[in-house]
Amino acid sequence: MARLLEGRPIADRILTSIAAEVAKLKSQPVLASIMVGDNPASQAYVKSQKKLAQQLGIDYQFYNLEPQISQPALVDFIQRLNADEKVNGIIVQLPLPLGIDGRRISQCIAYNKDVEGMHPINIGRILFGDTDIVPCTPAAVMELLKETQLNLNGKEVVVVGHSEIVGKPLALLLLKEFATVTVCHIGTSQAGMLEKHVREAEILVVAVGRPALIKGSWIKEDAVVIDVGINRIEGMIVGDVEFEEAQKRASFITPVPGGVGPLTVTMLMRNLLQAVKLQS
Ligand code: NAD
Repeated sequence: MARLLEGRPIADRILTSIAAEVAKLKSQPVLASIMVGDNPASQAYVKSQKKLAQQLGIDYQFYNLEPQISQPALVDFIQRLNADEKVNGIIVQLPLPLGIDGRRISQCIAYNKDVEGMHPINIGRILFGDTDIVPCTPAAVMELLKETQLNLNGKEVVVVGHSEIVGKPLALLLLKEFATVTVCHIGTSQAGMLEKHVREAEILVVAVGRPALIKGSWIKEDAVVIDVGINRIEGMIVGDVEFEEAQKRASFITPVPGGVGPLTVTMLMRNLLQAVKLQS
């Protein structure tokens, strides 16, 4: 029976060290958070960011902008925050209203204030093994893997999902640790090859958003399973892996909810500290 890899205790440890570092800073770090409109998922994320910021002694400055705002006006707003020396980090909540290009918006945040790690400079730096600011979800997965105390060198790691925000940057972080990385995606499934690859995985990370995509019977004996997926079905939140069956075979498995999730917002705050360092 697999051990549960829970995010909360790891997050609490990291938060304690972030709070200690924040306390040593000459001035209180400032995180500017922009939400355009009132998307309910963004509202929930903002609430958890605010709570954590308060707990850590971070000045959380929230801007709720009208959903009718134009893209140039939003860019202008961000550029003023870029130019404001008192602001250390900027986050723009996604999704943005139709007509605003989220990628263009991520690109106009100054790379050294980009706490989500999605600016092309920060993504590009990962390619060279420089991990000052890393996208939050892949960073959370790496923390969970650290907790298993496994040496990633030479391990067969299969990542299912190749989005810019999770799968692709995660593959680069794993390569930095000399893991043998296979990235699967929709094309792999369409070619009927997903099961074959998953069966080989000593470490499996799934970030797709499809409940029960990964059958429990596919999990290799003693594999580590990290389920990033979030799916709402019948009022419940489940991941992408058939949990009960997978738990019987794996050595470690993340619960959903409670695995990756609690660490993601923690990584945002760690990126803020990194941003403060980059700015000094
Ligand atoms: P996305 O839609 O951008 O990417 C989905 C990926 O899954 C793509 O690479 C696609 O090719 C692949 N895919 C789709 N269908 C597939 C199939 N049948 N077989 C194999 N691959 C398939 O999604 P995303 O933004 O990367 O998010 C993925 C999931 O992770 C979602 O459920 C999301 O809610 C969750 N998520 C969780 C956290 C967290 O903090 N826990 C953070 C980010 C995303």
